[in-house]
Amino acid sequence: MAEQDMQQCIDRAERVLYKIYNRFPVVFDHGQGVYLYDTNGREYLDFGAGIAVMGLGYGCEELNRAMKEQIDKLCHTSNLFYTVPAVEAGEKLLEASGMDKVFFTNSGTEAVEGALKVAKRYAYNKGLAPDYEIIAMEHSFHGRSLGALSVTGNDHYQEPFAPLIPGIRFARFNDLDSVKAVWSEKTCAVLMETIQGEGGIYPATEEFLNGVRRLCDDHDALLLLDEIQCGMGRSGSMFAWQQYGVKPDVMMVAKALGNGIPIGAFLASGKAASAMAPGDHGTTYGGNPFACAAASKVLDLFSSRKIVEHVQKVGAYLWDKLEEFTAAHPCVQAHRGRGLIQGLEFADPVGPLVECALLEEKLVLISAGTKVIRFVPPLVIDPADVDEMIRRLERCVADSSR
Ligand SMILES: *Cc1c(COP(=O)(O)O)cnc(C)c1O
Repeated sequence: MAEQDMQQCIDRAERVLYKIYNRFPVVFDHGQGVYLYDTNGREYLDFGAGIAVMGLGYGCEELNRAMKEQIDKLCHTSNLFYTVPAVEAGEKLLEASGMDKVFFTNSGTEAVEGALKVAKRYAYNKGLAPDYEIIAMEHSFHGRSLGALSVTGNDHYQEPFAPLIPGIRFARFNDLDSVKAVWSEKTCAVLMETIQGEGGIYPATEEFLNGVRRLCDDHDALLLLDEIQCGMGRSGSMFAWQQYGVKPDVMMVAKALGNGIPIGAFLASGKAASAMAPGDHGTTYGGNPFACAAASKVLDLFSSRKIVEHVQKVGAYLWDKLEEFTAAHPCVQAHRGRGLIQGLEFADPVGPLVECALLEEKLVLISAGTKVIRFVPPLVIDPADVDEMIRRLERCVADSSR
């Protein structure tokens, strides 16, 4: 495809697609491994993974084969019936997490919606007055539906859509006293990301997560952990909370679970799972055999390819390289994260840097908020990819400081 055709595609897109995103002027055509290719055949090193989705990278043959086989068998039946892929994907998720029950959704947002309903139903069953409260965190991100938006601590996202669901109190992440300050006898659950993603890559501290767990235990409230971005091996354990010695009552996954096929899930402990009864929730597509065949194969490949161990090694390598980068560049103010979810906070907005990386250096980077570059590459990157990313990033930073 010629350059002109790429522009033509962009013009057509702008005519038909709802103007909700400001997109970069690149039309991607295919991917392989950790590389994306535009319609002109130019190659891009991808450190964004479609927003932490493509854990196994692009063009994963074994996964594609499993999906093609399922397409030829059966894609959908509705949840009025049983299918084998849903059972298999469910068993593997429970095995990986130690949770007791799983409900499949089509997205992360829907997983959050489900978790909120579990929390509400749990409180309702206890006979709490209907004005019970859920504590969520400032600078969190849980999705864009009205329920998920209600617990997303970002005024800019919330304000135009107010009033949202009532009874949400916000506390400061990693500040246990601020949680205690908004706690009341109406509190029925606390919701947080184990590592805040969109908010700028902030891992929960040991003290905070353990402290919140204790508060929930003391008051029979549910701890809901959003692992949609930091889960699925990205933090260096299958789920980030597994590094803390705590366990949630409900957890949410999505993003890397389907390696690009839309699927999410909320998983509950027996206690939380018993809160909902048949008829309390539902979905037409959620858990369909096609999406579940994908998730099931993704979970197999995580085991057979030892993805978690790989993330620990290459994540440590990325950490060292970004530490060196931070030391060498005064424009970088902080470096945070774990495994392959790391962030660099810059003194200035990173928009121009992200654009330079993409257009000049053919390096896909994504931001988190205005001043943080977030590094959430495919989990299958190797140290040579990290070195190449750093070289390209160096050139952009040199350019922008000229
Ligand atoms: C992306 C994300 C969501 C929303 O997931 P969608 O699949 O976009 O609906 C929720 N929580 C976190 C932490 C996320 O990163």
